Amino acid sequence: MLNVPSQAFPAPGSQQRVASQGRSKVPLKQGRSLMDWIRLTKSGKDLTGLKGRLIEVTEEELKTHNKKDDCWICIRGLVYNVSPYMEYHPGGEDELMRAAGADGTDLFNEVHRWVNYESMLKECLVGRMAVKPAVPKGMLPKSQVTDTLPREGPSSPSYDWFQTESSVTIAIYTKQKTISLDSVIVDLQGDSLRAETFIKDHSYLIHIGLSHEVQENFSVRVIENVGKVDIVLQKRENISWKCLGEPLEKHDSFIPKKDTGLSYRRCQLISKEDVTHDTRLFCLMLPPSTHLQVPIGHHVYLKLSVTGAEIVKPYTPVSASLLSGFREPVSSPNKYIYFLIKIYPDGLFTPELDRLQIGDCVSVSSPEGDFKLSKLQEVEDLFLLAAGTGFTPMVNVLNYALTCMPSLRKVKLIFFNKTEDDIIWRCQLEKLAFKDKRFDTEFILSAPSPEWNGKQGHVSPALLSEFLQRSLENSRVFLCICGPTPFTDEGIRLLHDLNFSNDEIHGFTA
Ligand code: FAD
Ligand code: NAD
Repeated sequence: MLNVPSQAFPAPGSQQRVASQGRSKVPLKQGRSLMDWIRLTKSGKDLTGLKGRLIEVTEEELKTHNKKDDCWICIRGLVYNVSPYMEYHPGGEDELMRAAGADGTDLFNEVHRWVNYESMLKECLVGRMAVKPAVPKGMLPKSQVTDTLPREGPSSPSYDWFQTESSVTIAIYTKQKTISLDSVIVDLQGDSLRAETFIKDHSYLIHIGLSHEVQENFSVRVIENVGKVDIVLQKRENISWKCLGEPLEKHDSFIPKKDTGLSYRRCQLISKEDVTHDTRLFCLMLPPSTHLQVPIGHHVYLKLSVTGAEIVKPYTPVSASLLSGFREPVSSPNKYIYFLIKIYPDGLFTPELDRLQIGDCVSVSSPEGDFKLSKLQEVEDLFLLAAGTGFTPMVNVLNYALTCMPSLRKVKLIFFNKTEDDIIWRCQLEKLAFKDKRFDTEFILSAPSPEWNGKQGHVSPALLSEFLQRSLENSRVFLCICGPTPFTDEGIRLLHDLNFSNDEIHGFTA
């Protein structure tokens, strides 16, 4: 809700400007861009009216600050005076006022829990709630943590540890059989171990200051049929440990994923390669002491500091190429993450990303997303509708379809772009179509040159009925669609008109 970064192009939630579509429709006045806000926060002006003092705020007091020119909001236990920010909020003043004088945590989580409001609003911090809102925090005793779960939620996991002369194994018992290697994210920083396991829509956190030193490299194993995760650490010294270590913040907590923040780790830029005139393939390397795999169809957030403020934008990892990357299953452990990213010269984030030198770092979040691979089970015809960089989630879906879906008869990519020069990996797509007869691609241009003799136009009933032909009359079909929000919205509407059901469609959005 607060300060929502752009989701689409034309960026309806752009941190910078007016949105034309989607949720955020409020034109920002001249001089009220994100950069203007950053400048104001750095000007030394007293934005809280408290001259830098931090106070404890009672619920009664919070309620009294409920007017536009005196508006306090509590997010995750901290109270902010958002009045100075009103005119800069891309979602508009009314959206902020929905939480005026109240706890806005749920509203905030609902829209974009990943927005880095701590950094954006740090000069607006009034203080802490005297009575905390009902979000589980810190090291709660187990009984209290489980009490916060909805009755229908998964049952609470547990952990144990054991050692040999040279290793320490932390065993997490998830009590779920749907666990895989991409359900676990482990970061080891010095002696601090943080392991987050995603179980349905909940997150189980192990967060420990280890009692002894371990080596940087560790391994993660998942025993799917019993829902057990093993993190195997290598001791630096072969001595017997009396205890695993000290619990750190939120250790052993099990809470809905939407109530957790995103965790970030710094990744090094390894290479940057031109793909089209404005799109580049970035390769980032995860730290050796991180285990992180992005599930197919999910995205991460990249975070950079832009003139002192932390800016966060979502990006979807891809394989290194359509051809070589397709030899290995996407889920094999990989230290490298690739992104196809379009650089907008007047964008807020991408020019900054483009300025990074090889060896520089960018922070990468834990993954997010609601795409479920199980939807592809027994699918025979898969249609991928992509526009511009909306192609990115299709890459790994396509990889998976061609390598792991025995039922598959046909995959068709219908790829919308403005001009021929904008088509990402055109040559690779054509080679792949030549190599694998199940795959076929169609390019549709909205602003072609006079020489273009292929299809042209925008997403339309005529184009869709022409291209969405089943291989057999009753083929089990699935469609994925991704691109600028108006494209995705219009595409989904047209697919419904063509009698495809919601169960057969996945629209990629934030
Ligand atoms: P912004 O500051 O957001 O501006 C973008 C451009 O939009 C500007 O340069 C401007 O020309 C134009 N613009 C914005 N608003 C208007 C307006 N009102 N009128 C006219 N023009 C306007 N992108 C990728 O390249 N690769 C990915 O893999 C990828 N994955 C994504 C995954 C998800 C889940 C989502 C939601 C988005 C993804 N994006 C991806 C888009 C990405 O998050 C950013 O939105 C994009 O990189 C632009 O960021 P920016 O800060 O540089 O530009
Ligand atoms: P673009 O401006 O180059 O447009 C590509 C094509 O999209 C156009 O040729 C046209 O066919 C179609 N299009 C554009 N505007 C349209 C409209 N108003 N109505 C119907 N069709 C329209 O695209 P781009 O700059 O590459 O932007 C790609 C978009 O995809 C971005 O908004 C990005 O946020 C989004 N994206 C989303 C995800 C995700 O949600 N998972 C992932 C990647 C990219």
